[in-house]
Amino acid sequence: MKKSAKIIYDKKIIYNIFSTLQQNWPDAKCELNHNNAFQLLIAVVLSAQATDKSVNKALEPLFTSQPQFSAYDLLEMGEENFLKIIKSIGLAKTKAKNCYNLSGIIVSKYLGKIPESREELETLPGVGRKTANVVMNVVYQQPTMAVDTHVDRVSQRIGLVEQTNDRLKIEEELLKIVPKKFALQAHHLLIFQGRYHCTAKNPKCNTCPIENLCLKNIKH
Ligand code: SF4
Repeated sequence: MKKSAKIIYDKKIIYNIFSTLQQNWPDAKCELNHNNAFQLLIAVVLSAQATDKSVNKALEPLFTSQPQFSAYDLLEMGEENFLKIIKSIGLAKTKAKNCYNLSGIIVSKYLGKIPESREELETLPGVGRKTANVVMNVVYQQPTMAVDTHVDRVSQRIGLVEQTNDRLKIEEELLKIVPKKFALQAHHLLIFQGRYHCTAKNPKCNTCPIENLCLKNIKH
């Protein structure tokens, strides 16, 4: 049963939550394998409604044989051949088309460089707010908050944000309360907590490092 929403407003508690998460996962970072900004961009596009593991598995042979695979290379390869590489990933056809088309724009409009601003990133096919946030954070070191399924679930369970289905609201609330010291890594910390501890089913509360700080607004 959904418990009534409780929120943590205490700055010290919020600091302790992120500090503890960082102690547990000092190396928390994007788990999509990539060697350059373009590879990260297409990996994030491919990861929509798919696991990072499945995306890494599909792209691994390509990034191994062509470590600096770029937008130019994808255009040369063609949409159909790229589709063959990513066919194991859900919505492969649409994603292959988006990756091919965005490569065309990156080459013709940005001379191969991945744009830095949200406005420009979000004009690319298949790139929404979450993808733009990941690229801005990982490539351009901007303190953005990409709200995926883990960040959505964990931030509400802990009580960092009000219970809501509105991911933009979650993003805005988190950006307001995350201490500056953790701003760059915060979304990775919440993802790691959600992926490895505060799992969707059967969260490991008994051994959770922030058990004493969490409000446990769990939807059971
Ligand atoms: S105590 Fe439980 S609900 Fe709270 S963050 Fe830890 S695993 Fe998640």
